[in-house]
Amino acid sequence: MTTELKIYPKVKIAPHSILDSINTKVIVRNENCIACGTCESVCINKAHTRPRGYNTVITLPEKCEFCGKCVENCPMNALSIERNMLMDVMGDSRWTPELIISTWKQASTGSSPTSIECEVGRSGGGFDRLHFKFRDRAVKKEYVDTSIELNKRESGPRIRIDVPWYGGGMSYGSISKNVMLARAIAAKEWNTFTCTGEGGYPEELVPYKDHVITQIATGLFGVSEETIKRARIVEFKYAQGAKPGLGGHLLADKVTPDVAKMREVVPYRSLFSPFPFHSVYSIEDHKKHVDWVRAIKPELVVSAKVSTPSDVDMVAIGVYYAGANIVHIDGGYGGTGAAPNIAKKNIAMPLEYAIPKVHRFLEHEGVRDEIVLIASGGIRSVYDIAKAIALGADGAVIGTAELVALGCRRCGNCESGRGCPLGIATTDPELSCEIDVDWASQRLINLFASWKEQLVEILRKVGVESVEELRGRTDLLRYEGAKI
Ligand code: SF4
Ligand code: SF4
Repeated sequence: MTTELKIYPKVKIAPHSILDSINTKVIVRNENCIACGTCESVCINKAHTRPRGYNTVITLPEKCEFCGKCVENCPMNALSIERNMLMDVMGDSRWTPELIISTWKQASTGSSPTSIECEVGRSGGGFDRLHFKFRDRAVKKEYVDTSIELNKRESGPRIRIDVPWYGGGMSYGSISKNVMLARAIAAKEWNTFTCTGEGGYPEELVPYKDHVITQIATGLFGVSEETIKRARIVEFKYAQGAKPGLGGHLLADKVTPDVAKMREVVPYRSLFSPFPFHSVYSIEDHKKHVDWVRAIKPELVVSAKVSTPSDVDMVAIGVYYAGANIVHIDGGYGGTGAAPNIAKKNIAMPLEYAIPKVHRFLEHEGVRDEIVLIASGGIRSVYDIAKAIALGADGAVIGTAELVALGCRRCGNCESGRGCPLGIATTDPELSCEIDVDWASQRLINLFASWKEQLVEILRKVGVESVEELRGRTDLLRYEGAKI
């Protein structure tokens, strides 16, 4: 099936921020500079400028494309292009500084970065070792379809989203209300979804309810008939790939009076979401959950989020027979800085193994086209999304990438109430103001536009006309052999 590419919604340059001036390289001007202005006149990007009335030249790093023209033409050899030392202290091997900066640039401009690595990190494994085999088959990009259906059963409402990703659950408590709101606005703009996480449903999200998934997790914080009725999709969070078997913690300093009110708990007391649901120890119990929410709202699409134990294929088939529409498998690479590293790196099965295992088992059982398989856990870019789909998923869930678009640099202080210097992973009323909702939603809208553009290019270059046609096409992937 092909449909015409829709016009991208509301993409425009996001208001300037300090993030725009951070790049992998820097132009260094030394003391030999005589402010002759040659660099200003030769630079086509207007990256050098001499303010009127001043005998000095300044460089605007956000405009520079490091073509080197100014360096070549400087009569005093006063300019050089050097590696930005910030690269040595930012990010990690999965979220490399290059990936962080390329995400910032996409969020700022809405276009694909040209001169910076935006596909893989340096983890030495997983999606970083998988690449697409691009072919010459020409598919016109006007006819590439990136939409997916979230209910493949005969009954229930059809919910088609324009892009094969939606935002994962991040609760009010783990992130600020402004960030939640920005995610919801971007989800509506792109006809996709975001998810409440397990901390309740802030009233500010109600205008976007058609694009907000209500999550029900083990703590049942903030869950009510009202929040279930609001949703088109309800997600049961059985486990989280970043910390399977451990449940969730919200430390006391993040439980501000506002968070406590929403969760119906006492302020400034640490909260624990147990593992597992103490009402669910079998697929039959899970079916009771599905029946419970459908008794409240019969036309609900139901998702079950599980982690990736070694028998994840059996879990997935059970989820199908219990009546859910989406099985959402969450692998071990995800999680914010609030998830302990020892858990993130050692418990859940890596996503690149779990997806094909589940996909093939559902095919073998003859139900693959009746259930939607969604993958999450360390999806950083649209390349990761496309790779997950080629391995057998229908679509992907993202989380950290959205936070990175808003300036997160993976410092890992998310669990602390005033730890996030950017006002993202905080509920502190003062720090939360650091995130302006209009600015943040524009950056997410732009990121998605850039991803869509890149996805269309990937599909075109592997020779398929739709993202649904890419599903399970492992023949289009190449594994970069082990390096010794
Ligand atoms: S061309 Fe060289 S000397 Fe002239 S203003 Fe630029 S950096 Fe300074
Ligand atoms: S910048 Fe904020 S959201 Fe990002 S890792 Fe640090 S504390 Fe967490």
